[in-house]
Amino acid sequence: MTAQCSLSRELPVEEYIIEDEPYYVPVGNEVEIFTAAYKNLLPVNLKGPTGSGKTRFMEYMAYKLKRPLITVACHEDLTATDLVGRYLIKGESVEWSDGPLTKAVKNGAICYLDEVVEARKDTIVVIHPLTDDRRIIPIDKLGVILQAPPDFSLAISYNPGYQSAVKDLKQSTRQRFVAIDFDYPPPELERKIVAHESMVNGEMAKDLVKIGQRIRNFRHHGLEEGVSTRLLIYAGKLIHEGIEPREACRIAMARPITDNSDLQQSIDEIINAIM
Ligand code: ADP
Repeated sequence: MTAQCSLSRELPVEEYIIEDEPYYVPVGNEVEIFTAAYKNLLPVNLKGPTGSGKTRFMEYMAYKLKRPLITVACHEDLTATDLVGRYLIKGESVEWSDGPLTKAVKNGAICYLDEVVEARKDTIVVIHPLTDDRRIIPIDKLGVILQAPPDFSLAISYNPGYQSAVKDLKQSTRQRFVAIDFDYPPPELERKIVAHESMVNGEMAKDLVKIGQRIRNFRHHGLEEGVSTRLLIYAGKLIHEGIEPREACRIAMARPITDNSDLQQSIDEIINAIM
């Protein structure tokens, strides 16, 4: 068998272009900040709890900036090779296949590394040369160094709530990014978002948000993280589908966020008081 290498076979980047404007309600000046960072080639770190709108924001920004968005959900088995690329055996030949990071660099896309602390430290290191003045990605296996074009951008997301000694971003990584804080939107905006996304009426959205806020107060009483905007939307969707509201709230809020039966009972009481 003769091994043939066809280099840099581009995967169609069109599939990463967001055609329709995503629904996004700005909470502060995050749109202006991201735009300014993008123009100045600054990498961005979106810090905030799960389900607080970070991914939706990235989709919106990619649409606004007219760039493809390549998202990578980071996990502990993610290797540098997964991000950069590898040779794959295809029949009788061996072909190079770009990883998502290389693909983003080549196409001037926005690469979004979701939950970056989940990735191993030696994996995170591959983004370092892309996040300083050099803006390069060395591809050792091909013996090439790619220069990122000005329209390439790198964003990461990070949940400070999960911080632990084992899973934390090193300062040498952190200090390569400007950081935008995300949190659950204020009640009037969250009502609007929940109503839009789940199609419940304004009154129901108001009650769901009220429950969400009360549950979030338990964060100081043993609850690891408050109920996310995403879960409020799930509850709304079940209600819109005809599930009894209290039941929907238990299924979408009380049960997912904790296994502690005392906390669940306290949350059930909040639900029963408001619904
Ligand atoms: P994260 O990436 O922070 O985990 P997501 O972006 O997936 O969270 O947000 C969860 C859901 O909440 C989204 O799918 C969207 O429906 C809704 N959402 C949250 N914040 C906003 C917002 N500011 N504007 C519009 N939708 C939002």
